[in-house]
Amino acid sequence: MNTKRSVAFHTLGCKLNFSETSTLSRQLEQEGFEKRAFTDKADVYVINTCSVTDNADKECRQLVRRIQRLAPESFVVITGCYAQLKPQEIADIPGVDLVLGASEKFNLVQHLATLSKGDDTKICSCDIETVTGFNSSFSVNDRTRTFLKVQDGCDYSCSFCTIPMARGKSRSDSVENVVNQAKQLAANGVKEIVLTGINLGDFGKGNEGGKKHEEDFFELIKALELDTAIPRYRISSIEPNLLTNEMIEWVAQSKKFMPHFHIPLQSGSDAVLKLMQRRYNSELYREKVELIKKHIPHAAIGVDVIVGSPGETEAYFKESLDFIHSLDITYLHVFTYSERASTKALDIKPIVPILVRQERNKIMRNLSYQKQQYFNAAHLGSTRTVLFESIKQKDSESIAMLEGYTDNYIKVITPFRAEWSNQLIEWNLA
Ligand code: SF4
Repeated sequence: MNTKRSVAFHTLGCKLNFSETSTLSRQLEQEGFEKRAFTDKADVYVINTCSVTDNADKECRQLVRRIQRLAPESFVVITGCYAQLKPQEIADIPGVDLVLGASEKFNLVQHLATLSKGDDTKICSCDIETVTGFNSSFSVNDRTRTFLKVQDGCDYSCSFCTIPMARGKSRSDSVENVVNQAKQLAANGVKEIVLTGINLGDFGKGNEGGKKHEEDFFELIKALELDTAIPRYRISSIEPNLLTNEMIEWVAQSKKFMPHFHIPLQSGSDAVLKLMQRRYNSELYREKVELIKKHIPHAAIGVDVIVGSPGETEAYFKESLDFIHSLDITYLHVFTYSERASTKALDIKPIVPILVRQERNKIMRNLSYQKQQYFNAAHLGSTRTVLFESIKQKDSESIAMLEGYTDNYIKVITPFRAEWSNQLIEWNLA
C-alpha cells in the first residue's frame, strides 16, 4: 500500500475490543493515516470482531458488503476473536483482503505496508496456544473515562465459552507498566480509569522480555491507589472466586476505587453452575455480595447472567431467578445462551428451545429493571460525586445534555454546562 491513506474502524463486542481498536487507531494515525467514520469513504477499513456476538459471520459479511458498495477499491482487514477462531470462513467473504489473528492484530501497520489490491486474501494467524505476548491498550472517550486493558486471555474452561480459544492463555501487563500508563493518562487529564481484562482477577501472569513476573490483582490496585493521581478507578468485572474478602475490605476504605463491583454469576442454580464449569457456587456468591454490602452499603453491584443454557430446566431457571431476587444487587447484564462451535456445552442436554430462552431473558431483564429502580430510589436525596463526561445531543433541535455517573454508578443527565465537562461535581440525587 502506498500514497494517501485514510482508515475507518468498526468494533463488535466488549470493552476490551474497544480499547484495542482505540490503540490500533492511534498506531495508524501515528503512521500518517487520517481517521474517518465507518460510514465515510476510506482507503482501509478494519473490523475488530467478537466471538461472543451472535451471528458474527453474518454481521461481518454485511459490513464488508456495505464497504464494497461505498468504497470498492478500499482494503478490508478483519481481526479480533472471530478472525482467530474462523480465519478461513472470513477469508472466503468476498472483498476481504487481510485476516489477522490474535498474534498479528497489533502488527496491522506492518501488514498494511505489504498489501496490494487484487492479491489473494492473506491470512495471518497462528495456533492460539502459541500466543503469549501482551499488548496493552486503552480507549479514551472525551478524555474523561478510559478503559485500560491490563490482562488478556483466560485459563478457565467454562463450558459455554470460546474466549480462551480466541484469546489464549491468561497473561498480563506488569504492575509497574500499568502504574506508568495510569500516570501518563492522569497527566493527559483522564479522571477515571476502568481496569479491563478477560479474567481481570487473574491478573499477574506475565512474560516481559522473556522474564516471568508473578504479581496479583490486589497488588495492582494498591499500587494504583498509592502511586497515581487518577481520582477514580473502577474494576470492570471480576470472577467471584477471585474477589477476595481482603480486597472487598480494602475497596471499602479506598479513596480512589469506586463503590461499584461487577461480578459474573451466570446462574443462581448450583446444578447449572456445575454444568457451566464455573469455579464457585451460589453460597460463595452470596457471601461476596453480603460482605460488600456490610462494608459498603451504598455499593452498586452488577451481575452477568446467562439464561437458557443447556441443562437449565424450568426448575433450575426458577431457582436462579429466586436466588438473584434474594440478593441485594443493583442491575443485571442478561445474555441469552447461544451455541458456539467447539464448546463442551454442545454436549449438555436438555437443550432449551429458543422461544423459552427469549422468554427467560425477558423475565430476567424485568428483574434487573426492578433492582435498578429500587437501588436508585434508595439513593434519592443523597449527595454523591458525579463525573460528568460528554455531551449527549440526539439532534440539532434538542438541548445539549451532559451525562455522568455517581461513584456508585447511578446515571445522571443534566442540561449541558461546559464548565462541568470532565469535572467531579457533588450532586444531590433529587
Ligand atoms: S472465566 Fe469462563 S466465561 Fe470468563 S472468559 Fe474465562 S472461560 Fe470464558
